[in-house]
Order: sequence, then C-alpha cells, then structure tokens
Amino acid sequence: MKVVVIGAGIAGLSIGWRLKQAGADVTVLERAQPGRGATWASAGMIATIAEIETPDSPQALLAQRSVRLWPHFAAEIEEASGIDVGYRVDGTLIVARSEEHARFLRHRAEGSQELEFLGPAEARALEPLLAMDVLGALFDATEAQVDNRMLARALAVAFQRAGGVLKTNEAVVRFETEGGRARAVRTPFAQYPADVFVLAAGAWSGLIEGLTPEVAPPIIPVKGEMIALAAERDSLPHHMIWGNDIYLVPRGGRLLVGATVSREGFDSRMTQAAAVWLYSRAVALMSALANWQLADHWAGLRPGSPDDLPLIGRSALANLLIASGQFRNGILFAPAIAEAIRDTALDEPPKEDLAAFNPCRFAGLALTTTDL
Ligand SMILES: Cc1cc2nc3c(=O)[nH]c(=O)nc-3n(C[C@H](O)[C@H](O)[C@H](O)COP(=O)(O)OP(=O)(O)OC[C@H]3O[C@@H](n4cnc5c(N)ncnc54)[C@H](O)[C@@H]3O)c2cc1C
Repeated sequence: MKVVVIGAGIAGLSIGWRLKQAGADVTVLERAQPGRGATWASAGMIATIAEIETPDSPQALLAQRSVRLWPHFAAEIEEASGIDVGYRVDGTLIVARSEEHARFLRHRAEGSQELEFLGPAEARALEPLLAMDVLGALFDATEAQVDNRMLARALAVAFQRAGGVLKTNEAVVRFETEGGRARAVRTPFAQYPADVFVLAAGAWSGLIEGLTPEVAPPIIPVKGEMIALAAERDSLPHHMIWGNDIYLVPRGGRLLVGATVSREGFDSRMTQAAAVWLYSRAVALMSALANWQLADHWAGLRPGSPDDLPLIGRSALANLLIASGQFRNGILFAPAIAEAIRDTALDEPPKEDLAAFNPCRFAGLALTTTDL
C-alpha cells in the first residue's frame, strides 16, 4: 500500500512511522523542515489534569489511552533513533490563589486515586518558590513531559531509518481527485499518486486546493506565545506548575512559561505585550522569577477546530484520512492518533470510539475570515 502523508509535525511523522512499521510504502511531504511548526513551539506537556477537566468525555478517553501509550512510544522512538527525547514523569501541580478555586480543586481530588489536594504549606514544601498567597494545589505525581523539539528530530530519524521517505521544502499545493477518491497530490516539483493520503498539515491543513468544502477540514490557526527564563541562583522548580492563567515547565536548565491563546489568522509574529503578560503572570506566581533572565521568546500556530476537538479519521473522500485539529493537545494525543490513523488506513477495527472526532462532522461548514 502506498501512502502519502502531508506535514512532518509530530502527527505526520508518528503516523508515517507507524504505517511504515506496518509495511506500507510511506512518503511524508513537508513544505519546510520537519518538526518546525506547532510541534517546535509547544511546551511538550503530556497534560491531562489541567487541559481536560471533563472525565469520561471522548477527549478524556483519548487522552487516557495516549498517556498509557506514551512511555513505550518514547522508549521505542529513542531506541529506533538513538536520540533522547526527554520523556520525564515530573508530576503536575495546579495551584489555587482564591478560596473558590481551592474548593474546586479539593473537590476534584475527592475519590481520585491519582489526584491529591495539598494545603499551602505542603504545596510550598514541594515547590519552595511558590508565592505566599497560594492557597493550595492539586497534585498529580504521574504526569509527564517530553522535549518536543528533540522528539520531532528523533521521529524524523526513526521514520527514515525504518525506510520511510521524507521530502522537505516541498509543499503540497493541490489534491487531484477522481470518482470520490483522492488520486494524487501535487507539489511545485512533482505529482505523488498513492492509495491512501493522510492530511496532517497542522494549522495549515485547510489550505490545500482541490478539495470541496465537504472534504476540506475547517482548521483554525490559534496562536500561542511562550517565553523561557534562565535561573540566576535559585534552582528550577521540579514539577510542571499551572496557575494564574499560565503554566511553568522546567526544561534543560530553563523555565518555560506559556502560553497565550489568540485567534489572529496566520499571523505568528511575537509581541512584546505577550512576553510582558507571561512574565508578569509568572512573577506573581513565584516572585523570585523577577530576578531571572528572559532567555527566549517564540510563537507558534496550533491547529484549532470549530468545537476544539481533533479531527481523526476518514474524510468524505474514502482514501483521504485527516489528523488535525489537536489544538492544545497534539503532543499528548500523538501516540493514540498515530495508532488510530494506522488502523483506519489498514481497515482494522479502531481500538477506541472515534465518533466524536469524525472529520465529516463539519461537512460543508464554510469558514469565513472572521473564523480565522
Ligand atoms: C505555544 C504552544 C504550546 C503548546 N503546548 C503543548 C503542550 O504542552 N502539550 C500538547 O500536547 N500540545 C501543546 N501544543 C499543541 C501542539 O504543539 C500541537 O497540537 C501539535 O504540535 C500539532 O502537531 P501537528 O503535527 O499536527 O502540527 P505541526 O507541528 O504544526 O506540523 C504541521 C506540519 O505541516 C507542514 N505543512 C503545512 N502545510 C503543508 C503543505 N501544504 N505541504 C506540506 N507540509 C505542510 C508544516 O510546515 C508543519 O511542519 C502547544 C502549541 C503551542 C503553539
């Protein structure tokens, strides 16, 4: 079976790798360099307690399955590539700075095996830099993170070592369709026919020509900016910490602070306002950070969708599969999405119910410029 994957972010690379392992002949077409889209801009958290508050929702079940797959997925990529992807179980704290939020977090911990509510002294014992106005924290010791930039590099190596073809600096500009099926994709340099196509082009997944409105995914770019701070004398926090509308992630001697969320079309410029907002929110959570140096600032575009849920599975063109719209959770969801798309491509029964993520649920929804 010949497969063409469009986009070499975490989605396209992990799907391409899984399909290659299953014996398919896979080409990934990337318009720029692999892993330099949202995957590069990400914070790399495999975050469920802060991101997904509704237990038993379709996205919670997808997240739980993916979390279970992650340790083996990371180990397998490292073995195949020889590159350390920085998978670490650091644990997460969600801190409360109001009585109401503390009550809400305490309630979430009740009856849970993983979640524990910590009082202010216990929270500060875990993270001594936390501000004195922190009223408690929800703690999950099992949450993990990965170095998203190393991960993309490792996936590209693993995919190619498995025999996959990765073409960079080659954008897909058009689908050629015939009789309800995709026949080929065109780039400025060549035409690529295949049996199955996987559209995993991140925030840009809706821009390729040749698809009718029933088929083209209504993907909305959602900009996110982050900064990194470098410690002067203090040691880095040990956990991922959420609070005050931001999160803090210790990585490689720096503290990542994220992230803004704004819908401004495809504008991915960094702004001073976002850096100041992130910095001041971080300092309010940990006043010692006022002495740390601003080490980096970047922006990226998340692939959003009209209902904030991912699009995973067959489009209205039977042999065009979509893997997009992961919004804030594309790193978290990656192993489960890779399996789901592999199984769909091979006509194997899915390991989970993907109905909520059916790409056809928006059929014919025409996005206007105000949606973007
Ligand atoms: C600031 C920020 C923080 C984040 N933090 C987290 C987090 O902590 N945890 C988490 O789970 N998620 C996080 N996310 C979300 C996550 O990064 C994304 O959901 C995920 O990276 C999407 O992966 P992707 O492969 O679909 O897209 P991308 O990584 O954007 O890859 C898409 C690729 O397709 C290519 N492409 C586009 N058009 C074409 C074309 N026509 N032809 C060929 N190639 C094309 C692009 O160049 C790009 O390389 C964050 C995102 C941002 C911006």
